[in-house]
Amino acid sequence: MALLTLTDVSYQYPETQQLAISHVDLAVAEHALTVIVGPSGVGKSTILNLVAGYTTPASGQVAMAGQLVTQPSWQRGIVFQDMALYPWLTVAQNVTFGPRMRGLKSEAYQALLTELLTDTGLLTFRDRPVYALSGGLKQRVALARACINQPPLLMLDESFSALDNATRNQMHQLLLKLWRKLGNSVIAITHDIDEALFLGQRIVVINGKPGTVAATLDNPYFTQDMTGTTDSAYPAFRQRLLGLIAQRD
Ligand code: ADP
Ligand code: MG
Repeated sequence: MALLTLTDVSYQYPETQQLAISHVDLAVAEHALTVIVGPSGVGKSTILNLVAGYTTPASGQVAMAGQLVTQPSWQRGIVFQDMALYPWLTVAQNVTFGPRMRGLKSEAYQALLTELLTDTGLLTFRDRPVYALSGGLKQRVALARACINQPPLLMLDESFSALDNATRNQMHQLLLKLWRKLGNSVIAITHDIDEALFLGQRIVVINGKPGTVAATLDNPYFTQDMTGTTDSAYPAFRQRLLGLIAQRD
């Protein structure tokens, strides 16, 4: 059974009379890494907000583990591009914010906190306020903060798009490591084709206005570094994806 399903989901923002997404069907399997890719303004973040439970569909259904999604839950963790960290709190205070708000005792999350700070290379920064950290380190804090809840579904909305190439590659490796460790499902949203090709076990292309699912592809190049590749099928696959992602008027 799929962990998450969107069935014929449409959504229209109350402020406008236009549909942002229309008749979207999507299924995310257990322990799957799905990339949602598409040009700007086609409704990728709208889909994420619906899955998060911040909004509810105008029509259709969002369900997780057989339950209708009607409100936010720690079970669906999000890492935003702007991170939404608390600048004046320390790294450890930011990372443990979720479990503390849920009223968990410190003993319940200390071991995982240390493990996550180690994995993310943040251990030496644990008692520093986050305003003093670089953008790359802040992004690690945001990722650790989402992971400490051990959410069955982790979502990233263009989380790495503001990072330089080397830092972004490090974050990709870190995400894969955490995904394998937590054994959860991940949805990563991006507008970047190469990010989609590296991180997407399955790639869902959203395009058009309103946004619809233009294609769903199983990606043979998942987690493969394709720089300088001699794989003759790769250029055609990338070109096909590029065509699907191209902005439509
Ligand atoms: P993406 O994440 O793919 O860039 P969005 O989901 O942010 O796209 O937006 C999809 C469409 O919905 C766009 O046309 C955008 O202008 C519109 N939209 C997004 N947020 C709002 C809002 N709060 N109110 C009205 N329209 C919105
Ligand atoms: Mg967006």
